[in-house]
Amino acid sequence: MNAPSKLYEGKAKILYATDDPGILLTYFKDDATAFNAQKRGNIAGKGAINCAISTHLFQLLEAHGIATHWIDSPAPTEMRVKAVKILPIEVVVRNIAAGSLCQQTGIALGTVLAEPLVDLYYKNDSLGDPLLTLQRLLLMQLATAEQAEQLRLKALAINQILSAFFQSCGITLVDFKLEFGLDAQQQILLADEISPDTCRLWNQAERDPARRVMDKDRFRQDLGNVEAGYQQVLERVLAQPIQLGG
Ligand code: UDP
Repeated sequence: MNAPSKLYEGKAKILYATDDPGILLTYFKDDATAFNAQKRGNIAGKGAINCAISTHLFQLLEAHGIATHWIDSPAPTEMRVKAVKILPIEVVVRNIAAGSLCQQTGIALGTVLAEPLVDLYYKNDSLGDPLLTLQRLLLMQLATAEQAEQLRLKALAINQILSAFFQSCGITLVDFKLEFGLDAQQQILLADEISPDTCRLWNQAERDPARRVMDKDRFRQDLGNVEAGYQQVLERVLAQPIQLGG
């Protein structure tokens, strides 16, 4: 067998081709970046932790009828996924105000939103991932109106499943980012990863705003114990069996 050929190297993952054109191999790295890669670092063991958490959450979502790109995870830092064409849209769901929502609106950190907010961003590092309007999304032909509505509905459905799951782990799902792709049949599949790199997760046993953080904000804000936060998320997630919900 030939050495796997690298298709793409991102900030946290590397994508390889496999012998099957319909299947790609994702390798999860320990590298961490924040603020559009202006801050760089390494979180020991992060690749394996994020791969394991994403694996569990993709299985959970599949069990609830959400189509994902996940096939299997043959090694601790490796995931085999269905080849999809990634839509250049970051779909963020927010349950509690944090991060850029607070910075851009003045809403206080920790404000519980009356209903989940879905924000779409243009996935483009050189432009700094700007917030999209539906009209701009259509103008730029990033997706059709129907696809944009499907993304919104899928993101809200995923939020319900993940929020209930994290609640059972004693963790509050504050907000998270999703990416979707189109398969050969133009079906929308959930892609990328779901991990403490892409979610804000607060430990419900801690009230202190710095101590409660279990996600990449520990790295972004230099809160220390970054690995420990990720590790604790992994342990709690793996302790919860995947159950079919209503
Ligand atoms: N997020 C992400 N990748 C990005 C931008 C955001 O995974 O390129 C996640 C982030 O971890 C958080 C959520 O999306 O869980 C909302 O992030 P926000 O818009 O508040 O931006 P940030 O404060 O992270 O710059």
